[in-house]
Amino acid sequence: MKEILLLKYGEIVLKGANKRYFEDMLCRQLRRKAKPHGNFEIYRSQSTIYIQPKDDFCDMDGMMAAAGKVFGIVAICRAAVCEKNMESILETVKAYIPPHLEGKKTFKVESKRSDKSFPLDSMEISREAGGAILSACPRMRVDVHNPDVTVRVEVREFGAYVHPGPVKGAGGMPVGSNGCGLLLLSGGIDSPVAGYMMAKRGMTIEAIHFESFPYTSELARDKVLRLAQIVSEYNQDDMIVHVVSLTHIQEELVKHCDEDYFTLLLRRYMMTIADRVAHRYGCGALITGESLGQVASQTTEAIGVTDPAATLPVLRPCIGLDKEDIVVTARKIGTFDTSIEPFEDCCTVFTPRHPRTRPDLKKVLEQERKLPFEELVEEALAGMYRVDVTPEGYEIRQPISQN
Ligand code: ATP
Ligand code: MG
Repeated sequence: MKEILLLKYGEIVLKGANKRYFEDMLCRQLRRKAKPHGNFEIYRSQSTIYIQPKDDFCDMDGMMAAAGKVFGIVAICRAAVCEKNMESILETVKAYIPPHLEGKKTFKVESKRSDKSFPLDSMEISREAGGAILSACPRMRVDVHNPDVTVRVEVREFGAYVHPGPVKGAGGMPVGSNGCGLLLLSGGIDSPVAGYMMAKRGMTIEAIHFESFPYTSELARDKVLRLAQIVSEYNQDDMIVHVVSLTHIQEELVKHCDEDYFTLLLRRYMMTIADRVAHRYGCGALITGESLGQVASQTTEAIGVTDPAATLPVLRPCIGLDKEDIVVTARKIGTFDTSIEPFEDCCTVFTPRHPRTRPDLKKVLEQERKLPFEELVEEALAGMYRVDVTPEGYEIRQPISQN
């Protein structure tokens, strides 16, 4: 029996003149996702995207999982294809639906007829299909109010389709429909989740990671890039990670500034450097994994001190989330196990014993002026290198400069 995937997208997202543009965007992203799973034809019609295998070697399970990661898709139906006549529909219902009713007691049939030339109306289609199911599965009962399974028959432009109901899609908005953001990606739990959340709202994600070699190791960097691999899947299968060394900046901070201010000063450097990189590569915002009050540098006052170091808006999608909520998402998107691997981050080397939780911007700036801020920023940017990341792996584009 031939199967097909029918994908429904959020109507709210696709309103008005942009509808076409978004639909094409989704089709392109799905075509790319489809490649490893076989030869599929992907097209749209009547507010539905069709993913149709072109031969018998297509991996429908794999395709379905891949489509489940495309933002903007709200529901995915895996359906059997039938000809547009009642005989074929009933035959397909009898053959395709019973395995989906195993262990279930009640069902109903809902039909949709977008081809109005079809001789039966949707009520009649449902009634006949219901009869076919009852004859194939005599132990099932019909319950129109609260059924265990709702079987659907859809009579559409190009054919008729039968399925046991949709599964949830990734939701959100198509990646690329809301500009580009530069994610400050650490090896922790929060920042990959922040990247996922903004990708879900339609942002294309590019990332920046700060390392502090030799205080942080190659293993720590590898961990971050493996996290980036997972995030890249939600970013439509590729992502650039810019890597910047903070070693010299940190050494200078330790030598010249008061310990209480290390983290705040370092975070101001991070924000400034990220802001420059974002401007250079056309990103309209920075994204961090900060959550209010989680650590000393994430109090309102501390954020008030680090924020002005950036000119672009700083998006913090985790700001109001408890750690437990962030962990739930990290597990769902598959980053959690990697995030908890124990490697050091540049923020955790030279951590002050008593970090300032209610810092005063004036005092921070006094500390900052002890160092040639601009020079250090320029030097860090000069040593930056790029890593190209896909879900399958990563490639470091320029050799690491170690000073
Ligand atoms: P996470 O779990 O994301 O590491 P965290 O609770 O450990 O967050 P911090 O270490 O204070 O918090 O970092 C706050 C945010 O700053 C991170 O979510 C991330 O966006 C950014 N950040 C921290 N360290 C780095 C780094 N080495 N490279 C890039 N961004 C970083
Ligand atoms: Mg961290």
